[in-house]
Amino acid sequence: MNAIISTALSKLHGGIKASRVAQALARDVIRKSVLTTPPFDPFIIAKNLKLTITYAEIAAEAVLKDFDSDNPQIILAGSSVDYLGLGIRRRINFTVAHEIGHFAIRKAVSGFVPMSAFASEHEDEERLCNEFASELLMPWRCISQSLGSHELSPRSILKIADEYDVSLTALLTRAAKLWFPHFRAILWRRSKFGIRPHWAFPLNCTRAILCDTGNTSVERAFQSEQEEIGTSDLLINGERFRWKCISLKTGAHPDTVLTILYRSSLAARKLLPSARSKPNTVINVDTLNALAVQQVLPFPEKRTMHAARRRRDRKRT
Ligand SMILES: [Zn+2]
Repeated sequence: MNAIISTALSKLHGGIKASRVAQALARDVIRKSVLTTPPFDPFIIAKNLKLTITYAEIAAEAVLKDFDSDNPQIILAGSSVDYLGLGIRRRINFTVAHEIGHFAIRKAVSGFVPMSAFASEHEDEERLCNEFASELLMPWRCISQSLGSHELSPRSILKIADEYDVSLTALLTRAAKLWFPHFRAILWRRSKFGIRPHWAFPLNCTRAILCDTGNTSVERAFQSEQEEIGTSDLLINGERFRWKCISLKTGAHPDTVLTILYRSSLAARKLLPSARSKPNTVINVDTLNALAVQQVLPFPEKRTMHAARRRRDRKRT
């Protein structure tokens, strides 16, 4: 039961990986909306899909209700997003995009999996909805152009997060996936216990220990308002790693520093986009894959799918 939605989604679209189909669904939804440039506001996209957003005191952050009815709804916990701070509002943007993902994915596999598959939360569907949400808020082609046309630095990452109205962690996750394995991102917090990762991508970097010398870019950034550049040694699970680092205080929290880390080898540097380089050489590979997925879009009409299923059932009986 666990991967039933992935399997159905993939089979319905010629064996293409389910996460790619989820991303293609997000692009399909954007294409049908009025939005062509960032920010890709999920509230506008939901409205365009005739998905009503309401508020209630619920235990979860959000739920999708009645996806197969005439009045599908996203219910958000609380009473309104109007008076929330920037950080929380951007997190809710991701939540709404994730729920639109549930809606689009369930619509896509409806009739091919039992309704009971949607009754409770499954890791498989959650993962697909996160892929969908990332693509919806930061469409690959758009975000790769934005990242590729700026110098790689914490300041430009913060600027792009503003432009797309997404949380810093959502954008960093996207960037880290784009440039993996040459890129890492760590948000550091300083406390009486020292400087420790508060958030990191990939996850194993949350266990990183900074080999502090008093003069690393991270330590200097806590004392300044400028970007600080340097090469730092980190211990991760007992192994020592040396990375080029650029660090900057984020401003969101008085004691948070964002460090982006990248390999210092020439080969790795060639992969990093910069204003001087031709944009997106790394990204074109994925663009090709994205095109392959788009070739199967628009998705077959539900009626056609049901007809296919009836034919298949007739054969079996
Ligand atoms: Zn979910």
